Amino acid sequence: MASRLRFQDKVAIVTGGCKGIGRGCVDVFAENGGKVAVLDIDDAVGETMKAEGPGEVFYIHCDMTKEEEIQAAVEATVERYHRVDCLVNNAGWHPPSRTIDGFSADEFRKLLDLNLVGYYLACKYTLPYLRRTQGSIVNISSAAFTLGQGEAVTYVATKGGVVGLTRALATDEGKHGVRVNAISPGAVRTPLLEDCIKDDLQGGLERCKNSTVLRRVAEPRDIGQTCLFLAAEATFTTGADVSCSAGAELGYGLKQ
Ligand code: NAD
Repeated sequence: MASRLRFQDKVAIVTGGCKGIGRGCVDVFAENGGKVAVLDIDDAVGETMKAEGPGEVFYIHCDMTKEEEIQAAVEATVERYHRVDCLVNNAGWHPPSRTIDGFSADEFRKLLDLNLVGYYLACKYTLPYLRRTQGSIVNISSAAFTLGQGEAVTYVATKGGVVGLTRALATDEGKHGVRVNAISPGAVRTPLLEDCIKDDLQGGLERCKNSTVLRRVAEPRDIGQTCLFLAAEATFTTGADVSCSAGAELGYGLKQ
């Protein structure tokens, strides 16, 4: 348990919080005394989730591609906790690797709906409450946006959109005292990453590890810690895209 509770009695909404990076964020916020609304579609996991430490977890079934479900989930959070201090936009997907010839426009639109429009809608419906608490938003982008990534044009485009959304919203919301930041993780060991490299799991993990200067793949909690830092302590930081990649971009990407 954390020695000092850094999010005590505060309320966070984490989208896609049942597994992976979102779960890491939920655990870190709850360990620090936070009350966390988890918006996800995995009812089997969501309905059995328990808070780590002194905080609280409240699961709400919410498909982040459905506007009315997003609005209702934000309202349900406020009805229960009467405030929101942080929104973590995280629910997203990485399609299997293909070049541009292999994607249809419709597939791209569907990915945009989850990876970008879902973030936008969660911001839109949560901001009226964040303005009251001078809270903050953390949008999970990806190091793939800064570095580029092979056979992932649609994914990387959505993640660039997330950073654009972050900077533009930070510009508008500063006058309300609301900070808006992004985190760009490198490789994080989650069900999504494991699925992407399932044909050669050990080899894939080894390649991810060797792309960092710390020589390891992130655990979801690593991203959760950065997220809590942005929400709880980074009071003069807004519009930033915080790299959480263990230096994958250093040395022109080449490691010794
Ligand atoms: P994951 O697939 O392991 O977990 C995603 C969670 O989101 C799951 O709980 C899933 O049920 C939920 N989800 C999926 N579709 C949803 C929907 N329509 N509505 C609500 N919830 C939904 O994924 P992850 O690896 O933890 O990735 C989380 C975010 O981090 C994504 O935006 C991803 O692009 C980004 N990211 C991941 C990595 C990585 O290496 N894992 C690296 C950089 C960025």
